[in-house]
Amino acid sequence: MSPSTTTRNNEKSAQIFERALTLLPGGVSSPVRAFGAVGGTPPVITSAEGAYVHDVDGNRFLDFVGSWGPLITGHAHADVVAAIQAAVARGTTFGAPTPNEVELAARVTDAYPGLEKVRFTSSGTEATMSAIRVARGFTGRDLLVKFAGCYHGHADHLLVQAGSGLVTFGAPSSAGVPAAFTEKTLVIDLDDEQGLEALFAEHGAEIAAVIIEPIPANNGLLVQRREFLQRVREITREHGALLIFDEVINGFRVARGGAAELFGITPDLATFGKVIGGGLPVGAFGGSAEVMDILAPLGPVYQAGTLSGNPVAMAAGLATLDLLEKGEGWAQLEKLGAELEALLTPILESAPIPARLVRVGSIFWVSWQAGDPPRRADAIDCKAADYYRQIFHGLLEQGVAIAPSAYEVGFLSLAHTSEHLATFAEALRKTLATLTV
Ligand code: PMP
Repeated sequence: MSPSTTTRNNEKSAQIFERALTLLPGGVSSPVRAFGAVGGTPPVITSAEGAYVHDVDGNRFLDFVGSWGPLITGHAHADVVAAIQAAVARGTTFGAPTPNEVELAARVTDAYPGLEKVRFTSSGTEATMSAIRVARGFTGRDLLVKFAGCYHGHADHLLVQAGSGLVTFGAPSSAGVPAAFTEKTLVIDLDDEQGLEALFAEHGAEIAAVIIEPIPANNGLLVQRREFLQRVREITREHGALLIFDEVINGFRVARGGAAELFGITPDLATFGKVIGGGLPVGAFGGSAEVMDILAPLGPVYQAGTLSGNPVAMAAGLATLDLLEKGEGWAQLEKLGAELEALLTPILESAPIPARLVRVGSIFWVSWQAGDPPRRADAIDCKAADYYRQIFHGLLEQGVAIAPSAYEVGFLSLAHTSEHLATFAEALRKTLATLTV
């Protein structure tokens, strides 16, 4: 179904979005929301509850985007809302130490392997940017290694693509980023021990840190082999570089101790966002006391934030973690994930195009190509994007919202039920049955 043949009433959304286009670049506050990859007008959302979002035209969508990951308890969970309301009533920000930030810090350090101290930020971008600064300050080295296909926020030196050749210094992937800003960032492929070893053989003594999403979830879901992650752990240790796990998506989602717990691999630094903010703007980064105490005011690495550790945001995070911990949330999410997998697998197997479900706990993605799901970014077949447009709109027409890009993952929440999953599966079956290939 093409975007122009929508049967749903989207008159008000279209009007507001038209106005948005004159006032906000692309009509949005973050690019992928603009539906650039799938076409059409995005529904303009006014409210959400549990597993559903509602738009200005009165349409209701069963939501598998979850605001791109934070809403692990679902939209507007009563406990999270109550915690936020109570915190707001006490004041929105103090610019001073608060009990909530100490409590959330205790919860994060208790949950995550090797973590002794954390610092809160207001976004995941700030968390990764700051963790890298800490690694550089701690090691006294400049080079950063990242993997093609991993996203770590939009700091200048992270908006980088691999140059040509096996071991290359990065080139900016965004206008407005001077080449000089990315020349200390080396980009290599995931799932490639040899590339990693070649890089360290050449530059090992200058590498401050390797940053990786241990379960890369920003370019499809590129599930890594444990042996590869283990090799990344070993080689960084051998060369005195720090290993940073970017757990902004994975943290408190795939397990209480994030991907580190799942793989049994402990990084030197970890970054968080999304789930720990319970839907409010929170990021965090942490490590051992020895590493983290290099931060101001104790040490020479500067990092700060007017709204960092915001008491309302901390309250939302704490309420979210409470729900996950008390309700055995991670076991419940795994159960839902397994159920979704069982429902979707036969539907995808009989689809008119090759398709395979990839899933880690409550994170899922469909690999629209033949063979084993890809483990690295350049193994993804770009043709999928053409089909995806039809699939996305086919689902939206039936009231099911998935991410408006073939490269973005889906998220389950504690608000999803077996019925919701069955609705999704049936909508997908119908959509694939009418796919034009
Ligand atoms: N790291 C990862 C792994 C992410 O997925 C994201 C956001 N999608 C970020 C960092 C940046 O977080 P934010 O958008 O909160 O700045």
